[in-house]
Amino acid sequence: MVSREERMKGFYDEKHETMPRKEQKEFQEKLIREFCEYAYNNTKYYHDKFDVAGIKPIDIKTLEDFHNVPLTQKSELVEIQKNNPPFGGLLAIPLNDINVVFRSPGPLLEGFSIKAATSIGNSLCKALYSNGFRKGDIVNVTFSFAGVPAGLGFTQGVNLLGAISIPMGTGKTDIQIELMKQLNVTGFIGTPSFLGKLGKKATKKGVKTREELSIDVGCFTAEPLPESLRKNLEDTFDMMARQVYGIADLGIIGRECGLAQGMHLEESMVTEIVDPNTKETLPPGERGEVIVTVPYRRAIPFIRFCTGDASRVMDEAICGCGRTSPKLERWLGRVNQIIKVKGQFLHPKQVKNVLKKHGLKKFQVVVTRPDNISDVFVIKVEYEGDPSSLPIDDINKELADAIILKPNIEFVKPGEIKGKEEIVDLRKFD
Ligand SMILES: [Zn+2]
Repeated sequence: MVSREERMKGFYDEKHETMPRKEQKEFQEKLIREFCEYAYNNTKYYHDKFDVAGIKPIDIKTLEDFHNVPLTQKSELVEIQKNNPPFGGLLAIPLNDINVVFRSPGPLLEGFSIKAATSIGNSLCKALYSNGFRKGDIVNVTFSFAGVPAGLGFTQGVNLLGAISIPMGTGKTDIQIELMKQLNVTGFIGTPSFLGKLGKKATKKGVKTREELSIDVGCFTAEPLPESLRKNLEDTFDMMARQVYGIADLGIIGRECGLAQGMHLEESMVTEIVDPNTKETLPPGERGEVIVTVPYRRAIPFIRFCTGDASRVMDEAICGCGRTSPKLERWLGRVNQIIKVKGQFLHPKQVKNVLKKHGLKKFQVVVTRPDNISDVFVIKVEYEGDPSSLPIDDINKELADAIILKPNIEFVKPGEIKGKEEIVDLRKFD
């Protein structure tokens, strides 16, 4: 059995994971220079896109130049494939050179070549290792295998790491628990809610989750992992729960390390945060939409792909684990739920997470601009009892940390908040 201490330290790919920031930038610039040229020369889609924008691949020399390249919206790609099935002319290699096809939500058909497999495998191994998985682990992979990349991808990652995979998919909870006991399964890959469900089921069957099951490490994604849920899973299974940020179209973009304070960005991808309105690239610290370029995607290249997810790159400090890549803050929800208040992006999830901790559920953020110049916002919160019994100072402080704005809470009686919207924007912009 791998010790918890061993799970916390070391690197899968020390050379790239500990590369000084300056070298990292040069490494990524080399990748994008080559990739822009590749996509331009091999797909009509990017050839036209660059031409319309008046940009030639040779103009792209630095990451700053790269910010001028037009963004790729998934909706465009879905439309192109619909009009010109099956791949919409997005394929940059002959059909015969593809070795696997997935259908991601959209729907979007995506082909991957065997040549990309090494890079994909490397990024998966980095993610799993960083989360604490090690050679010798026996791992339940509970993501779907039905036409989407997650199940198969993670299974390959586990195997490449030298661990044993059990490709389970979701469901079959009785069998999963039985196998966990029989094989002394040490690792779990899936959603936090599914492991929570397995825990409840096991307890119901009289299985002691801490003593009789050997789950010691978990890699979670596809759902948020708030700290309360992380702690709950860690306590239930006596395990180390870590998360990665990945999406079906792109792979693993960010990975938590042992310290679990943000997700290290994958070094071989270029991740940016843009202002959802102006589409300008934002500096570290600012929240916006996550934009990703994956230069090792050869079959269907994506350049500056808009994920629709909201997050931010955290401050520039180097992490205590020794990995040098910047970290992405936890997933903040979909970008279309974001609004900008007093110059800061505000997402209802940020408010919800804090209020939930204090047992407060129903809320509504109301934003107005009474003088047409400055924003005023009130967080209405329904509360049955006397609000003075609540730790108001703590709530205000936690909210201020989460939204980077001074909160203004107004307690109302249950039933007083109308509608389901968590944010109501009453400002008028002429
Ligand atoms: Zn770290």
